[in-house]
Amino acid sequence: MPQQSDERLLLAEADQRALNYLDSLPQRPVFPSHQAIAGLKTLDLPFSEQGIAANQVLALLDDIASPATVSSNSSRYFGFVIGATLPAAAAAERIVLAWDQCASSFDNSPAVDAIERIAGRWVLEALGLASNSAVGFGTSATACTLACLSAARRSLLARKGWDFDGDGLIGAPEIRVVVSASVHITVKKALRVLGFGMNRLVVAPVDEHGRIDPLQLPALDDMTILCLQAGEVNTGEFDPFCSLIPSAKAAGAWVHVDGAFGLWARASSAAELVDGVELADSWTTDGHKWLNTPYDGAMAICRDADALAAAMNSDAAYATASKDAQKNLTLEFSRRARGVPIWAALASLGREGLRQMIDNHIRQASHLAERLRTAGYQVLNRVVLNQVLVRADTDQQTTAIRLAAQASGQVWFGPTIWQERPAFRLSISSWRTTDADIELLADLLIALKQQTSS
Ligand SMILES: *Cc1c(COP(=O)(O)O)cnc(C)c1O
Repeated sequence: MPQQSDERLLLAEADQRALNYLDSLPQRPVFPSHQAIAGLKTLDLPFSEQGIAANQVLALLDDIASPATVSSNSSRYFGFVIGATLPAAAAAERIVLAWDQCASSFDNSPAVDAIERIAGRWVLEALGLASNSAVGFGTSATACTLACLSAARRSLLARKGWDFDGDGLIGAPEIRVVVSASVHITVKKALRVLGFGMNRLVVAPVDEHGRIDPLQLPALDDMTILCLQAGEVNTGEFDPFCSLIPSAKAAGAWVHVDGAFGLWARASSAAELVDGVELADSWTTDGHKWLNTPYDGAMAICRDADALAAAMNSDAAYATASKDAQKNLTLEFSRRARGVPIWAALASLGREGLRQMIDNHIRQASHLAERLRTAGYQVLNRVVLNQVLVRADTDQQTTAIRLAAQASGQVWFGPTIWQERPAFRLSISSWRTTDADIELLADLLIALKQQTSS
């Protein structure tokens, strides 16, 4: 068995290696080299009989795998709304690992139970959502959407006198689900897993910005779940909540909002973009994107706290807890203390720090768009948020520029298809990204456009 002193040395070495990794971020290629990726086969050891020394395990990981990581924790990663990790959140994560709490309920962890309650309250304050809503800290927006939509279904059925827990779905009154034509794939996944067939979804047409067009909204009633979006993945735009939600609510529908990244605009100076979202019934958002917390940190927020608590309840004879214990608000039973780094991020930023971080990204995105436009790029969206959708003169040139930028190792961003043609998507969401990083990105893209112009 390992000795205590070995554990101290080992964890100190892990921290030292982690710090060296962070120090190396500005110099390392944002996407790893072919050579580093090929080196990963060194980790494919036979599963040994005796095991290997823990410090060798650590050395293998750092020496072999660190060079093959994507520098998504750096300042020049512009793909997929992947935020970095704020120092306070990263430090909290280290303490959480030492605690090793099973953060399911008060009985398993009074400390985490208290911290996650506070974090939940702060999240509601930061996002300006009803203060008595339930906040479940789940693994992802995907999982949290699943939790919220299961609460939605159970509640709509209960209003018709149907006992979903007892009788399930067979023979139940039918629920219609209306989604935007630009609904995120993970909302569809949650619906699919819940048994709402894809062929039965009613699709609401969107305008050229990817927002539901209120004039073309399908009819809604008290057996409808309407899924809206705060932050379209390409354009960063918002559905027109002020015109959609009041009429949906008047019809008796349940309104769910996927705000994986965009909901954080509520905490910015651009909050008016998201006006009316507070009228919905449930919301999902991520910590691990725009809030810059570590992965596996997301929130299921439900105005009717009891609805989420009933849908997610997992009390057993040997494990009862308050109805708002985290194990009764999320899919997980045993769970890591994922609300703690979120608490730490919000504690360290404060309202002003949070506003500044989001404001900065929005300002940087609009500056970047302006530079690219001036250099002859087509900027395809209005750049209301942190997303910049870009095309060069031809589809071939758009792709060539993206591949060359990726190969440069200086930046990374990904492709998308917008209105049936290739484009690339620049997303600004890391607290580390400085104005100088934005100039570097713009300079690089402008140079590549000149090089690839015939
Ligand atoms: C990323 C994203 C999701 C899914 O979030 P995960 O936390 O990765 O599950 C859902 N909707 C939108 C708009 C997103 O950007």
